[in-house]
Amino acid sequence: MGKIAFYVGIIVVTVSLIVGFSTGSFLKFIGIGTFGGSIALILFLLNLLLHNQKMILAKLNEHEEMVKKLRNNIDCPNCHYKFNEMLTSCPHCGYRAK
Ligand SMILES: [Zn+2]
Repeated sequence: MGKIAFYVGIIVVTVSLIVGFSTGSFLKFIGIGTFGGSIALILFLLNLLLHNQKMILAKLNEHEEMVKKLRNNIDCPNCHYKFNEMLTSCPHCGYRAK
C-alpha cells in the first residue's frame, strides 16, 4: 500500500510535467506542475505515514517481547515453566520458589 502511493506520486508528477510542457504555455506548465506536485506530495506523505505506522507497530511488538522476557524470568525448578518473578509460587505446578 505504501509503495503503491509512492510510485503513483512519481507517475503523477511525471504526467503533470509532460502535460504541462505539451501545452506550450509557461503559465499552464507551472499551474499543472503545481497541481500534480501537490497531489504527489499528499501521496508521499501518506506513504511516509504508513511507513511510520509500521515502524511504530514493530517497535511496540519489540517492546512487548522485551517486557515478556523481563517478566517471565523465573524457570520453575520442578516443571521448568517460566513465570513472573513477582510470584512466590509456580502457577503451573504450585512449586514454592521462596
Ligand atoms: Zn512449576
